[in-house]
Order: sequence, then C-alpha cells, then structure tokens
Amino acid sequence: MTVYDIAIIGGGLAGCSAALHARQMGASVVLFERGRCGAQASGVNYGGVRQQGRHPAELPLAKRSRSIWARLADLVGDDCEFAVTGHLKLARNDADMRDLVAHQAIARSLGLSLEIIDRTDLRRRYPYLGEQFYGGSLCAEDGQANPRLVAPAFSRAARAIGAVVRENCAIERAVASDIGFDLFASGEREPVRARRLINTAGAWGSRVASWFGDTVREDVMAPNMCVTEPIPPLIGPNLGICGGGIYIRQARDHGSVIFGSGLGAADRDALRARPLADVTMEAARAAIEMVPALANVLLVRSWTGIEGRTPDGLPVVGASPRLSNLFHAFGFSGHGFQLGPAVGAVLAELCLRGETETPIDGLSMTRFDPPTTHPAAPLAAGKT
Ligand SMILES: Cc1cc2nc3c(=O)[nH]c(=O)nc-3n(C[C@H](O)[C@H](O)[C@H](O)COP(=O)(O)OP(=O)(O)OC[C@H]3O[C@@H](n4cnc5c(N)ncnc54)[C@H](O)[C@@H]3O)c2cc1C
Repeated sequence: MTVYDIAIIGGGLAGCSAALHARQMGASVVLFERGRCGAQASGVNYGGVRQQGRHPAELPLAKRSRSIWARLADLVGDDCEFAVTGHLKLARNDADMRDLVAHQAIARSLGLSLEIIDRTDLRRRYPYLGEQFYGGSLCAEDGQANPRLVAPAFSRAARAIGAVVRENCAIERAVASDIGFDLFASGEREPVRARRLINTAGAWGSRVASWFGDTVREDVMAPNMCVTEPIPPLIGPNLGICGGGIYIRQARDHGSVIFGSGLGAADRDALRARPLADVTMEAARAAIEMVPALANVLLVRSWTGIEGRTPDGLPVVGASPRLSNLFHAFGFSGHGFQLGPAVGAVLAELCLRGETETPIDGLSMTRFDPPTTHPAAPLAAGKT
C-alpha cells in the first residue's frame, strides 16, 4: 500500500498551494477535494488581493503571498488575471483619517508602504468618487485577480509535477495511526495512509480539526457579492472604506464592476449559500454613493459563498497543539484569498522542514484554547 508523505484535506487555494509547494520540495502528496478544486470560497470570492488593513499577525504572510502573486505566471502557468491596481481605503471623517495614519505607521514597521492622501488630492486623482470622503490611504502594490482561475491553476500545476489530486472525493474521517494518519474516503473501504496531514478544509476545517481533539469555534459567513455589466475603464484602484462597508473593484480584463457589502446566507451542511435581496439593494445604494457614475449601470448577478470565521477574525495557521505531523489552515474570516499562495508555502515548510521563514505565531490555534498536554504523534514522520 502506498504511504504518502503528505495528505491534504481540502482543495481550495490553501490546499492546492500546499500541494504544489510540498511537491516542489520533493514530497509525495495526495489531495482530497469533496467537489472540484476551487469550487468553494476560493473560487467565488471578490478577488481582492489586499495587504492594506491586515492585522499585524497576518501581515508577514500577506507580504510573502504578494511576492508569490507577482510570479504566478511562472509558478502555475497562468497569471489568473492578477493586476496591480492598488487598494484605496477611504475615510468618511477625521476619526477615520486618524485611523488610516495610525495603520500607516504599523504597516511601515512591518515593511508595507502606504500613502496617505488628503481631501484635495483625492478629488484630483479620483474624480469619480463621491464628494463625502475626507481622504484615503493607498497601497499601490495591492491588486486583484480572477478567483475562478487561481485554485484550479495551482491544482493543475501540482498535478503536473506529480501530486495526486482526487476531486469529487470527500474524506469522511481520519485517524492517527501507526504510520501517521489513515484517511477514509466516502465509499471506500481501505484507508489512504500518509505520514503527515494538512487540514485546509475551509469552512469545514474546524470539523476536521475536531477529529483529533483540536477544538476551535468556526462560524460561517457569506459575503454578499454583485457584478455589473462591463463598462469602459472608470475605477482605478480597488476601493474600500475605513471600518468596513462597501468595497468595489473594476475588472481590468472585461470591465465589469464587482462590489460587495453585508452578508448573505450560508448553510454549511447543505453546501449552499445565497445572496439576500435586501442586502444586495443596500449594497447597490452604497456603491452608487461611493462611485456616483454607477447609478446608470446594470447589475447582472449577485452571489455569495461559504467562508469560515473564527471568533477574532484571524485564521488558524500552524501545527496542531496536540498531535505532531498535523497542520491546520482554516477560518480565514473573509480574507484568505490573498493569503492562500503563501499559506500553502508555509504549510509545506512546516510539514517538511519543521519550521517556516514566515512569522505566524499570532495565528496559532493555542490563542483560543491553550492545550494542557502535547502528546507526541504515534510515530515520527518518515524522511522526505
Ligand atoms: C464571497 C466571498 C468573498 C471573499 N472575498 C475575498 C477577497 O476579496 N479577498 C480575500 O483575500 N479573501 C476573500 N474571501 C475569503 C477567501 O475566499 C477565503 O478565505 C479563501 O478562499 C479560503 O481558502 P481555503 O482554501 O482555506 O478554503 P476553501 O476555498 O473553502 O476550500 C476548502 C475546500 O475544502 C473542501 N473540503 C472540506 N471538507 C472536506 C472533506 N471532508 N473532504 C474533502 N474536501 C473537503 C471543500 O469542498 C473546499 O473546496 C472571500 C470569501 C467569500 C465567500
């Protein structure tokens, strides 16, 4: 029976990137995806590739990811419509401006450069914005990508160098075993065996973690999204607002305007999520307030997806506190698309080198529930 170095549960962007990076490091890899790779949150999100506004605990990961986004075409053979449009966060009042300035200082201390823009300059540079804004903060190196393309591109690239990617294959349970882990796929009697296990099961990640006694509360959220008909180039940077609310971007390739605000409804068990009409109406109103020229543009579709959310809004990324050779990355709380490429690289390093160059201490599962015991895994991992 084949024993893989690494098994991965979940073929979203985090899992597909982990498969690619682990394979590049020489490990044998099998990835299980219940549906198609990238069909859940990784494929239906807004497409914002944003470092600005990140919590300091995830900024190093975001910075590393940004460097991977820049070389996507080389890495996975497709640029996935990644475009460096910048990200402009807008202030509605003086208090917001003070928040933007404070964040600029924190970001600078972590190596991220943000430009504060005053009211006059905002009018001059972005004349299509509503006049209510006091100023903004621009992260010139942020951007956007087409989410439908990214996880499948990582999955194809991983497969091309030898990773086994099993789509339409749900793992019903997994247990620690003499060799590492036994995984039981739906409808199969014999387990698949692996020395290490990566849990990138998205909104279902806490359930997978609980099979091993790793308990984290993970709720679901469903950001309400809308897209318009294509229009001529209008909006430069992706737009956001201080403290949250409406966010808008215009796709560089086809001109559609994509915006989101508020939450739809998601049923994690039924694998269904739907946007809500009243939330969509309110989002459209807020979008027009932010960019008045959108008033005459046709809204063609709204949608949402199923995303896991932790109590503090930060993901869990790192080793299991209870079991060695088990690694988790889930609960991205609405902002894991930008992080996905680096999350995969970090997971591969943790699995195969036992450490990573990227600081992730603030994302450890132990911040919720410090464990009292740290039993060793049943058997040390095989060398890869
Ligand atoms: C509408 C929306 C808008 C968003 N906008 C942005 C944005 O603009 N920028 C940003 O950075 N982030 C955004 N996000 C968040 C981002 O999409 C997610 O954080 C990220 O895609 C999570 O990736 P993932 O690989 O962890 O999870 P997922 O993409 O959810 O992948 C997890 C996979 O695991 C599979 N799985 C689960 N259990 C099992 C099992 N037992 N066996 C086999 N497979 C299993 C699932 O089928 C799923 O495909 C948004 C999310 C949504 C929903």
